[in-house]
Amino acid sequence: MRKIADQWLRDILLVLYQHRNVTRAEIIADTGLNPASVSHALRFLLGQGTVLKVGDLASDGGRKREVFNLNAEAAYFVAVDLEGQRIRFALMNSVGDVRYRWEEDLERGEPLDVNKLFVGVAKLLRNLDARQHSRVVAAGISYPGLLDAQGRLTAVNLAWRKFPLLAELRAKARLHKMSGLPIFLEPDRHSSVFAERWLGCAKGHQNGLLLFSERGIGIGVFLDGKPVVGWRNMAGEIGHITIDPDSEEQCGCGKRGCLETVASSSNIIRQYVAESPQGPRDASSLRITDIFEKARQKDAIALAVVERAAKAIGMALSHAISLLNPSIVILAGDLASGEDLLLPLVEKEIGRHTLADLSDGLQIKASGLGLDMRLKGAAALAFRQSLADPALLKKMCSPALARHKAAAV
Ligand SMILES: [Zn+2]
Repeated sequence: MRKIADQWLRDILLVLYQHRNVTRAEIIADTGLNPASVSHALRFLLGQGTVLKVGDLASDGGRKREVFNLNAEAAYFVAVDLEGQRIRFALMNSVGDVRYRWEEDLERGEPLDVNKLFVGVAKLLRNLDARQHSRVVAAGISYPGLLDAQGRLTAVNLAWRKFPLLAELRAKARLHKMSGLPIFLEPDRHSSVFAERWLGCAKGHQNGLLLFSERGIGIGVFLDGKPVVGWRNMAGEIGHITIDPDSEEQCGCGKRGCLETVASSSNIIRQYVAESPQGPRDASSLRITDIFEKARQKDAIALAVVERAAKAIGMALSHAISLLNPSIVILAGDLASGEDLLLPLVEKEIGRHTLADLSDGLQIKASGLGLDMRLKGAAALAFRQSLADPALLKKMCSPALARHKAAAV
C-alpha cells in the first residue's frame, strides 16, 4: 500500500473544513494534489470515519459526482473568546458548529482569574460522553491586547498588565488536570480574520480588511493571504487615526479627534444624547441598536450622528484601502447591526476618497458571523494548529465511529 503523506490529509481536511460539501474534483482543484493521491487519502479518511460520503451529484454528462464532508462528530475543539466584558466558551464540532456554549460575565476592573478559564472548559466537557471526550483534540483562545515575547499579556479589558498568561495557563492546566489538552492562542483581530476567511464572507479573498467595532475600533488586515502583525503586533489600530485634527473630542487614548471619538458605538450614543435636548440624559440606558432604530424612523439627530460616524469610518478606510489595496472590506462587531444605514454611506465615502481603480469592484460587506465570530475563529485556530501537529493530525484521523468505518469499507 502506498504511503499517505500527512500533507495530503492536511490539505484535504482543510478544504472540507472551509467548504463543507465538496466533490472529488473540487478537492483536487483546491488542493492541487494529483487525483491518485486524493483518491488514496480519501479512501483512508472514509475508512477512518473522519470523512463521510454524503451523496452524489448528477452532472450534465450523466456521470455521478460524489460529495464528501467532514464527519462533524469525528473531532471536537474547545473555543474561548476572552472578549473583555465576559468570557465565551464553546465546544465546536469538526465543521465549526457550536455544540455547547457557556459564558461568564467578568467583574469590571478586576483582573481575570485564569482558573475561570479551566472551570468554563470543564463545564463544556461535562456534556460529553466518554467517546466524545476522547475526540476532543485541542483548544483555541482568542485574546485581546498584546502578548509579548515572554508570553505576558497586556489587555486593558481583562485588567492584565504584563500578566504571565502562558506560564499561568500551564500551571492552572496542571491544577485542573487538563495538561493533555493542547492550547493555542491568537490575537482577537486575527481570529476574526480567520473566521471570515474560512467561514464568512472573505472566503476566496487574499487581501482584505476587517473593521470591528466594540468598545473601540480596530482592523484586522490580511495581505496575500497572510495576517499583518506589525512590529509590536499593533498593525490595524485604525481607531486612533486622527480623523479631525481640529476636534475638541478627547479619545480614551488621550489624543483628540481619533476615529473612535466619532464612530465607536459608545461615542455614537454619547453624541446622540448630547445633541438631543429633550431626549434621554443618560447614555447608559441606550444601546447602539436603539440609535440605528431611531435613524430608520428618520429621527434627525440619530440620522446625523450615524451619518457622521459612517463618513468618518469611510474616510479612515479610504486611507487603509489606498495603502493596502484590499478586494474586500468587512464591517463586524456592534456596528454591523446598522449595516443597512452604514454600508451605503461608507461605500460612498470610500468612492469619494480613493482612486477609482482601488474602489471599483471592491466588496464592502457586513459580517454575517455575529457574536460567534471570534469563537469560530478560535475553533478554526485549534483546527489549523492541530492539522500542523503530526500527533494531533493522527488523532483527528484515528477511527472515529465504528459504524462509519464499517459503512465506508
Ligand atoms: Zn485615540
